[in-house]
Amino acid sequence: MSVNKEAYLHIINELKGKATLVAVSKIKPVEDILALYELGQKDFGENYVQELVDKQAQLPTDIYWHFIGHLQSNKVKYIAPFVHLIHGVDSLKLLQEINKQAAKHNRTIQCLLQVHIAQETTKFGFSFEELEALLIPKELNNVEVVGLMGMASFSDDKQLVRNEFMQLKNQFEKLSSTHSSFKILSMGMSDDYSIALEEGSNMLRIGSLLFGKRIYTT
Ligand SMILES: *Cc1c(COP(=O)(O)O)cnc(C)c1O
Repeated sequence: MSVNKEAYLHIINELKGKATLVAVSKIKPVEDILALYELGQKDFGENYVQELVDKQAQLPTDIYWHFIGHLQSNKVKYIAPFVHLIHGVDSLKLLQEINKQAAKHNRTIQCLLQVHIAQETTKFGFSFEELEALLIPKELNNVEVVGLMGMASFSDDKQLVRNEFMQLKNQFEKLSSTHSSFKILSMGMSDDYSIALEEGSNMLRIGSLLFGKRIYTT
């Protein structure tokens, strides 16, 4: 087990309730999740549907599960019964499907819209104009859009990363003034969370700092 409890306690202390920490546990075993759970951590983030479904079934029911990966519409049904927050909504089609599956379970699922802030074209997300268009009310009664999520460029250039977070924060502020449901700004990962906090993040998604580096084997 490679859970870094000291890093966890350090971050929790640094946040002092100003932001929610989502512990990103993708690829990591349930024992590692339990180790943090026992320290009081309740919010965990996963990227892969099957992995999330398997872990959810084995772990305490009061965990808040965040889906932070790229979600395909045909897989929404597997996580709709229990997912707490879906971070990466990047199309109207996906939002409609989440609404449909949430209705089947008599739930309202909270979602974040993913914004494209990084320079890399590989990252998913909306432009600001697309966000505004998407937020026009659409009779989707079983989803609630509660904010935005973004990923900065993978770069050592701290100013670039800061600018991207500032840009996202700006968009969040603008939309918050007209959308009262907006309350969550999910930005910041292991390498850039301090900058994200300075720029107004209120939800961090941190994996490797807590659980050690991920080693992918196939
Ligand atoms: C994996 C992942 C994280 C966590 O990344 P770390 O660098 O390990 O903290 C955060 N957000 C998303 C969307 C991820 O896929």
